[in-house]
Amino acid sequence: MAALTQLDAAYRRAQADPRFTDELGELLRDRVGRPTLLHRVPRLAESLAVPGVRVYLKREDMAHTGAHKINSALGQVLLARRMGKSRIVAETGAGQHGVAVATVCAMLDLSCTVYMGAHDMRRQSSNVVRMQLLGAQVRAVHTGRRRLKDAVSESVRDWVTNVDTTHYVFGTAAGPAPYPRIVRDFQTVIGNESRAQVLKSEGRLPDYVIACVGGGSNAIGMFHPFLDDPQVRLIGVEAAGRGTETGWHAATLNSGTPGEIDGAFSYMLQDEDGQIARTHSIAAGLDYPGVGPELSHLKETGRVIYRTATDDAALRGMRALTRGEGIIAALESTHTVGYLLELAERGELPPDSVVLLCLSGRGDKDLDIAAQRLGS
Ligand SMILES: *Cc1c(COP(=O)(O)O)cnc(C)c1O
Repeated sequence: MAALTQLDAAYRRAQADPRFTDELGELLRDRVGRPTLLHRVPRLAESLAVPGVRVYLKREDMAHTGAHKINSALGQVLLARRMGKSRIVAETGAGQHGVAVATVCAMLDLSCTVYMGAHDMRRQSSNVVRMQLLGAQVRAVHTGRRRLKDAVSESVRDWVTNVDTTHYVFGTAAGPAPYPRIVRDFQTVIGNESRAQVLKSEGRLPDYVIACVGGGSNAIGMFHPFLDDPQVRLIGVEAAGRGTETGWHAATLNSGTPGEIDGAFSYMLQDEDGQIARTHSIAAGLDYPGVGPELSHLKETGRVIYRTATDDAALRGMRALTRGEGIIAALESTHTVGYLLELAERGELPPDSVVLLCLSGRGDKDLDIAAQRLGS
């Protein structure tokens, strides 16, 4: 609690200090490549076969390191430096957050240790090499199921043991307060830019804003600036894996129940004894049994609705974007495309709709899966 209280106070001071927000803005522009493109995709829109529909992609895959994760990694590492910390610890699942944190640490000259489940290290070996090239120490976690959940526990243990020198950079808008708020604030750049970009192109707000939901950081970052615009429908798409009825999925807000996970009270996938359930998704970044508390709150108020897309729908979305638009997107992100294709097929997408999709990352990491599942 002492570490969290200290972080909360430091963050509030930083947020009110223009030197901090100006430096963050400059680095986002000069080192991350923001603002990212808003890209209209007419061929994808045409394939929906609904008259007058216009679809836009927010291209977070064009940010440095290829996903939205660097927005929050950069903000949190700058905050750590301001707090006088010289060492960063982070957890990673598929390795995307670890790579973003290692990149920022290399940029700003801080020492970096990334905890990763031994099981994940085997299946995501190229990201392990990336982190090591960037100068991070990658520590294998052999406890529990040797996955993301266990890497979180090890990172927290390291942080509280070395809190004088060390800061913990969390990968999604979940975990104990103040992390869900900090990560949300740093990711809100996605929604702020998108809102202005759609207004400029269309002269009005979008009818639909759609984002995939793992822990929830790209979704809450995209949705937050639209929360007070009731005409904008906000849809979070969760991973239905092999189908929510099969038990092989990660649809936390659709199929989960409230409970405590990683220091927050939120929806989670658990058994009758409150043990965390097994999850599955073709997209490693969505394969998490929890979700951020703010997205849970927005489920209960009804402001955001949550739907699902299966592994097959995500693959179909990947094919539609590659063949149709020349974009190889991450399988996490293509859950939104798969969902949109199905929405149009069911006849539920009204003519002349303006649709904004968050393309959270690029698909280089998914090439092996694509080769297996999509063939040549
Ligand atoms: C990590 C990741 C996600 C899921 O994380 P959120 O916190 O839910 O955004 C989605 N897309 C990509 C490309 C990712 O790397």
